[in-house]
Amino acid sequence: MDLESDIRMNLQNIQERIQRACLQVGRDPAEIRLLLATKTVPLSKIDIAIQEGYALLGENKVQEALAKFGSRLDDAHIERHFIGHVQTNKVNQVLRFATCIQSVDRLKLAQKLDNRLRNEGRTLDVYVQVNTSQEESKFGITPDRALSLMEAINGMEGLNLKGLMTIGLFSRDADKVRACFQTLRMLKDEAVYAHLLDEENYVLSMGMSHDLEIAIEEGANLIRVGTAIFGKRKYDDTYYWNENLDVQ
Ligand SMILES: *Cc1c(COP(=O)(O)O)cnc(C)c1O
Repeated sequence: MDLESDIRMNLQNIQERIQRACLQVGRDPAEIRLLLATKTVPLSKIDIAIQEGYALLGENKVQEALAKFGSRLDDAHIERHFIGHVQTNKVNQVLRFATCIQSVDRLKLAQKLDNRLRNEGRTLDVYVQVNTSQEESKFGITPDRALSLMEAINGMEGLNLKGLMTIGLFSRDADKVRACFQTLRMLKDEAVYAHLLDEENYVLSMGMSHDLEIAIEEGANLIRVGTAIFGKRKYDDTYYWNENLDVQ
């Protein structure tokens, strides 16, 4: 089977998984937005999904994102979310392409973004990334400090706080994964109660290729999927490997 129909079929599969998960808990599948996690995926492949009508993309590395989108920043209908760790010294570069940053996880970063944006006379949508799995290897603010970071961001003119993001624990134990998503949902409830997030328009960004059903059951309304659409990132067939070498 050729590459294009592969990606189309994978997108179809994800839509079916979203529908089944929604059915389980009586949610409307139309509530769930699908973000394509496109790290290491070349534009030629991403374009196949864009032709299918997908327009919400997420990148992890500043350099890679600029290389891919640099020439196409005027594609106004494409949403370019940043979902990777933002180093403080990369703020200016991220702001060149991102239409939303999902990974704001510390006050210093928020302040730097805000300063820069106010200088440019514009605003940017951001989500706060929370470390709900307590793993040292992952970025994100701890759940107990998330609300005060949200409060601080709420007072910043350059930033529009729109939601929360987390990466679930990588575990076969579904209960442990679920607990991560429940933590994020409870934080969302607290934030809505404190008028830090809009009750109707908040974003709960959680769930990836392997755990999107659990995330949807726990209230996700934006899921971020890479592997299940574009294939494994590193050790796939040689065709894919060669493409990866081009990008990195
Ligand atoms: C890569 C990535 C995803 C997608 O992961 P898959 O397992 O490939 O679906 C989602 N969120 C973040 C932050 C990522 O870096």
